Amino acid sequence: MTLHTSAPDETPRDTRQAIKNGLRCKCPRCGEGALFSSYLKVQANCPSCGLDLTPQRADDGPAYVVILIVCHVVGITLGILWENFRMEPMMMVAILSTLTIVLALAMLPPAKGLFVAMQWANRMHGFGRAEA
Ligand SMILES: [Zn+2]
Repeated sequence: MTLHTSAPDETPRDTRQAIKNGLRCKCPRCGEGALFSSYLKVQANCPSCGLDLTPQRADDGPAYVVILIVCHVVGITLGILWENFRMEPMMMVAILSTLTIVLALAMLPPAKGLFVAMQWANRMHGFGRAEA
């Protein structure tokens, strides 16, 4: 358990800019430092401005959002492919499986960046402390 003893920070935070930075996988505060140290591992601190990123709690949120979007895209693509081209089922499996994997892997880092940015902008989970 972490104790938060410092005074809350009341300075306004630009949510729109934080979201843009998060979607670019950059620090939500400065937009310069990389948010991730590897594919989906959030750094402890921003290498540019030093923002403490340990309060982030993205958990499964990015995965749910990515599943929601990818399933709609793939489902619509399935309908289009079937109605217009009448492809062989195994060809459709190959195309749609590849599409699903590529979309999911491409969308996960920006989705996680979005969640971390929203948490920072809304002072959630300890992002409201003065030093965070
Ligand atoms: Zn930063």
